[in-house]
Amino acid sequence: MSANDLSQPTSTKEDGLGQLSRSVENAKRIKSVQDKFVNSQSLMKEGRALVGEGILMKVCRKKPKQRAFFLFNDILVYGRVVINGRKYSQQKIIPLNEVQISSPIDSEENPYSWLICSPKKSFIVHANSDRERQEWISHLERCIQHASGGNNAQNNTVAAHWVPDDKADTCMHCRTTKFSTYNRKHHCRNCGFIVCEGCSKKRFLLPHLDSKRVRVCDTCFIKLNMNNMNEPRQNTRDSSDSDGEENHAHYSPVPATFYQNIENF
Ligand SMILES: [Zn+2]
Ligand SMILES: [Zn+2]
Repeated sequence: MSANDLSQPTSTKEDGLGQLSRSVENAKRIKSVQDKFVNSQSLMKEGRALVGEGILMKVCRKKPKQRAFFLFNDILVYGRVVINGRKYSQQKIIPLNEVQISSPIDSEENPYSWLICSPKKSFIVHANSDRERQEWISHLERCIQHASGGNNAQNNTVAAHWVPDDKADTCMHCRTTKFSTYNRKHHCRNCGFIVCEGCSKKRFLLPHLDSKRVRVCDTCFIKLNMNNMNEPRQNTRDSSDSDGEENHAHYSPVPATFYQNIENF
């Protein structure tokens, strides 16, 4: 599919993904993913294709954690690895039409990484190699295009990526408060910075995150209020955001598998 085709409805068109979605192997693979998840939502859906799967390290608040990712033509599913290749838990599903991804990010501690952003949650993941990252990014881009059917999701509001806890010893706002057992670290829900209690006493309604008002830093509070005077926001439903706190001592690299050749989309 060329970029120009995206202005037309994709549903009427026969493409590689359409073929894949109707294959017996695809149905078996999706059923198998569903069966391996503890408390899985139903993943079987007409027109859905499992495009690829693999293990990625997801950068979390405390430490990077190993997560199994399953890329479909309309959703991204991920979860905690209980037994590699056999059992997963804490299933999360993100509709791809709400997803934005960044270009590659390279840092010493997280090589081969990039950002996955969605309205409720944004996070950094990293792959085993540059090649694997490139494969993930290409397939993600194609699936996002497919899922948004020409309506570019780039205008959606996405959640801020939270700065990991070990990145700051002092408040990133006042630069004075040193964090300790008594001065706990908080995250501004709007900018993702680590801030002290004193600098984040204010709450603000960020409808893409939660129906309740959430913690924001003083700078963001002022900014958001100024924006709000111009454009009223609408309300959305409730959210919950818990990702478990377990750590993985080692990362066993398993190469990602993609069932759809990038040329055949
Ligand atoms: Zn502070
Ligand atoms: Zn902020």
